[in-house]
Amino acid sequence: MKLPLTGGCSCGVIRYECTAKPAFSWNCHCRDCQRASGGGYCPVMYVPRAALTTTGPAAVYYDVTAESGRLVQRGVCPSCGSSLFILAELVPELQGLWAGSLDDPTQFNPQINVWTRSAPWWSMRDPAMKKLDVAPNEAQFKELLDEAASLVSRQ
Ligand SMILES: [Zn+2]
Ligand SMILES: [Zn+2]
Repeated sequence: MKLPLTGGCSCGVIRYECTAKPAFSWNCHCRDCQRASGGGYCPVMYVPRAALTTTGPAAVYYDVTAESGRLVQRGVCPSCGSSLFILAELVPELQGLWAGSLDDPTQFNPQINVWTRSAPWWSMRDPAMKKLDVAPNEAQFKELLDEAASLVSRQ
């Protein structure tokens, strides 16, 4: 993975740059992510907020109580509606970046599929990738963070 990670919205008014690699990356198949994306899942990487800079207008955030019961805020571009950011109560020091908003989406390297119990049959899934029926518990989440930290980049 080449740093910084750069990306932005469709119309180009919001741009971001991240100087740190993601703390973790996953495909979330929960119903909220399906509704928010209009697809089968949300491919998201969570990066340290301190390493992220954005330019342009502030994203408009919509609050949702996730299936986990926790608050999730989804940030979209006010001009074009592109999905860019996710703020999750679970990881307050991190910020989610939608994989599709990257200038080079091949930089996204998902570690795990979560909430697969609600994944539709047509949703693309790598059978070799780790998966969890629901959200990770504390130990599983820590494992994910440790794995991401030690991950040797494919690119
Ligand atoms: Zn835009
Ligand atoms: Zn989700």
